[in-house]
Amino acid sequence: MDSNQQKPKTLQDAILFFSDPDNTLEYMKRLRWPDGDVYCPFCGRRDVVYLTNQRKWQCKSVHKHRQFSAKVGTVMEDSPIPADKWLVAVWMLSNCKNGISSYELAKVIGVTQKSAWFMLHRVRLGLSLNAKKFGTKRKIGGGSGPVEADETFIGGKMKNMHRDRRARYVAEQTRTGGGVGKAIVMGMLDREMRQVRARVVPNVKRETLQATLLSEVKHGSKVYTDEAVGYDKVSYNFIHDVVNHMETYVDGQVHTNGIENFWSLLKRTLKGTYVAVEPFHLERYVDEQVFRFNHRKHEDQKTPMTDLQRFEAALPMFVGKRLTYSEVTGKDGETPF
Ligand SMILES: [Zn+2]
Repeated sequence: MDSNQQKPKTLQDAILFFSDPDNTLEYMKRLRWPDGDVYCPFCGRRDVVYLTNQRKWQCKSVHKHRQFSAKVGTVMEDSPIPADKWLVAVWMLSNCKNGISSYELAKVIGVTQKSAWFMLHRVRLGLSLNAKKFGTKRKIGGGSGPVEADETFIGGKMKNMHRDRRARYVAEQTRTGGGVGKAIVMGMLDREMRQVRARVVPNVKRETLQATLLSEVKHGSKVYTDEAVGYDKVSYNFIHDVVNHMETYVDGQVHTNGIENFWSLLKRTLKGTYVAVEPFHLERYVDEQVFRFNHRKHEDQKTPMTDLQRFEAALPMFVGKRLTYSEVTGKDGETPF
């Protein structure tokens, strides 16, 4: 592997770096097989043969799909878009503070806007802690610091929406029982670790909020919330301190300012870069923001992460996740690309 000096530092470096197929292959290998040992994804055989010209491997057992590339079993599988463009897309989305639009990505890597749009959705799925994946995600809490929990409402501008979109939007709202015109996101921040978990929730009922808390936060953590009715009885599972927003200044430590800071970052991105986000896609944009928020600094909470470190932290998250075109669009029968 190359030395650290040769590794990319900026987006410009990254584009240049991944234009070398050997560099791309090295990173794709690390993405797919983090411990460095290439094995057949279909039968597990480890003595696979590397086919230099095709930059693929071949399993010695005769079975279907015996030839495979490093894209197999990742969000990039089945995409005709070359891996170097995918890696640049990952670089951009994991690092651009306010997200990137499909128009920007299309221009940078030279694909159509539609392809870029689809790629970005797949990359967001890669960055998601909530999407199904091999292995388990780490819960937050459990340390000496508190966890702040809060919800926010993200408003859709229905009148600016195309008729088809609006119909889908309303159907989704009806299905989930949320307030029409608004989507609800619940967020939790481990104040000590500076780690956020967030997800779209259908409503602010007690059962919903508490189930979400239980799935994201370790048992016995100290949880700060505002006095929303949904949080009473939380103390059965957590130590619970309520913030009354009128008394925030008096309470001192007991506040939810940290998670509110996350909400303002999320809303800035949604307003600035992603002008028309449908509730259908909101979860993915939340996932994207959570990834960047959680990778601002190293675990010591002092040293900022570099763009390269954020990119390398993102890569292993892409394994074991798939997203089809119809899952992205909610439509069947369109051609994937
Ligand atoms: Zn095999």
